[in-house]
Amino acid sequence: MAFDLPELPYGRDGLAPHISEETLNFHHGKHHNAYVTNLNKMIDGTDLANASLEEIVNAAAGDASKAGLFNNAAQVWNHTFYWHSMKPGGGGAPHGKVAELIDRDFGSYDAFATEFKAAGGGQFGSGWAWLVLKDGKLAITKTPNAETPLTEAGVTPLLTMDVWEHAYYLDYQNSRPNYMASFLDNLVNWDFANQNLADAS
Ligand code: MN
Repeated sequence: MAFDLPELPYGRDGLAPHISEETLNFHHGKHHNAYVTNLNKMIDGTDLANASLEEIVNAAAGDASKAGLFNNAAQVWNHTFYWHSMKPGGGGAPHGKVAELIDRDFGSYDAFATEFKAAGGGQFGSGWAWLVLKDGKLAITKTPNAETPLTEAGVTPLLTMDVWEHAYYLDYQNSRPNYMASFLDNLVNWDFANQNLADAS
């Protein structure tokens, strides 16, 4: 069964001016769509043709002969997770359970924000910064290219920030730091993090 490009949870102009409609036209309409198209070609007629996306990502992870399949399947999953990690009118200090855990595990929201931006800024080249739940505690991680904490046992992704240049170049040119600051100040969807925390418990 072929996968469809998931709808954005807001309009393509919904994150403007922080992320423009033009960026989402390319990022969702071209990049994410290409990963879906490639994935469908790769699983067609194989024993993974009817598997779930999560099953495909995990089946291909760590298998060099399935690197292309892993890259496309994981990028489909990562991007869908990223779209939900943002919302119109989002950003700023967290609330609810994730706020409590950020204070407990990082000391303060400011300390969390500094570490999260350091993870995104420290990812050389393309990749992702993540807030995850690991062994009952919050942690920040970064992954290169299509790599995803979805494949790590005992790790639940809560939020992600795409730091591939295609995520920010049209709006912020080379300034990944300005994009990351805007992600936290104006876009991050703490409701999604809280939902993922609730689902994990
Ligand atoms: Mn991307």
